[in-house]
Amino acid sequence: MMKMKVTKFGGSSLASAGQICKVFEIVSADRSRRFVVVSAPGKRSPEDVKVTDLLIDYFTAYKLDKDFTAIQSQLIGRFQEIVSALELTDILPEITNRIYGLAKLPLDNGFTYDSFLATGEDLSARLVAAFFRKNGLTARYVSPREAGLFVSNRPSHAELLPEAYAEIEKLIPLAEKEILVIPGFFGVTRSGEICTFSRGGSDITGSIIAAAVKAKLYENFTDVDGIFSANPHTVENPVIIEEVTYREMRELSFAGFSVLHEESLIPAARAGVPMVLRNTNNLSAKGTRIVPQWTIDMPVVGIASSSGFVIIKINKYLLYRDLSFGRKFFEILENLGIQFEAITTGIDDISILVREIYLSVQVEKALTERVLESLQPDDFSILRGLSVVTAVSEEIRQQTHITSRATTALANEKIKIETLMQGASEVTLLFIVLQKDEKKTVRTLYREFF
Ligand code: ASP
Repeated sequence: MMKMKVTKFGGSSLASAGQICKVFEIVSADRSRRFVVVSAPGKRSPEDVKVTDLLIDYFTAYKLDKDFTAIQSQLIGRFQEIVSALELTDILPEITNRIYGLAKLPLDNGFTYDSFLATGEDLSARLVAAFFRKNGLTARYVSPREAGLFVSNRPSHAELLPEAYAEIEKLIPLAEKEILVIPGFFGVTRSGEICTFSRGGSDITGSIIAAAVKAKLYENFTDVDGIFSANPHTVENPVIIEEVTYREMRELSFAGFSVLHEESLIPAARAGVPMVLRNTNNLSAKGTRIVPQWTIDMPVVGIASSSGFVIIKINKYLLYRDLSFGRKFFEILENLGIQFEAITTGIDDISILVREIYLSVQVEKALTERVLESLQPDDFSILRGLSVVTAVSEEIRQQTHITSRATTALANEKIKIETLMQGASEVTLLFIVLQKDEKKTVRTLYREFF
């Protein structure tokens, strides 16, 4: 059996006829690229509008009973421009009918919005398959229904049904004969409704297919050379991460790196399929590999940062002996809807890290009252205006010198660390600093480790 690759292209790789030609070149260049997953046409320039956003406007106008003819024309215009340049005008009537047909869907159906949204990906896949065939590739469009992409029935928040993996796996013999072009971003419910993942969800489709067919690689083509090791707005010309483990990548995504859809890591990671992020517009860049096990030793792979944090601290003599203390505290947090991101405890202390958005003035007041009444602390404080700078690396688990190198570097720059925490996954170090020191902290750590 042939070992296959699943190759996903993001919206900017499908935004114009020129970009679709690049997609064709990429797929033709490697015979093991058998599954091609596509997004809807994205932006051609920074000021442009994505097809998916146009579809949202179209739905809104339709729902509010406003005139939507201009949006219909704009959508048709986008596809027309592509198909004319690719000499595929025979599929234009089908595209036009689909776009007009959306305004006949029932508004009292909770999945109608998803049907609008999914149209961008669906037409994109049909168009790409037609273009591949026209240029000599044996390829065909496969709908998510045909592919067995069965999902749960929560509109706009689909989740794959676990039994769908076995269905999707059945595509393998077909893919050995033909390149299968599958639209990203949506699946079908058991009752046949179209249901999308959350925004940016084509990454999830690619990951699911890669996991189901046990691909040798999941390639995700986008418009950047790879994942930067730090925010380029903070650090000048940060290096591209060459390799990162799934666990590290999850932590980086959570801490503020937003190249991939967060949910897209899980299926491929669980199936042990490596992933690579590459640039459609610069094939000479090797990209970033996301792998189950690390092969490259790096003390730190990436530094993320995020502002708007608060530390809530409670001090009470011999707090650790009161077995009900934690339960009571968490109950207060639960009842007030306060989600926390990290926690540390000691003999007399407990502190938690919370995003400021969870702590409005009213919530803070209620929290203070409840903590004072039910926990009777010796001291209770809330420290606002904090940032969290997260250094991520599998090596943190193995090597203590990483912490000492980081703290020494920060001390040399006179940056005060309010709190230092190690994440429970043991691959993160969280430096909690005053918001005003955030950028300096990132730059100092970057200089130390890269
Ligand atoms: N086209 C969809 C969006 O813009 C999904 C995707 O591109 O991944 O959110």
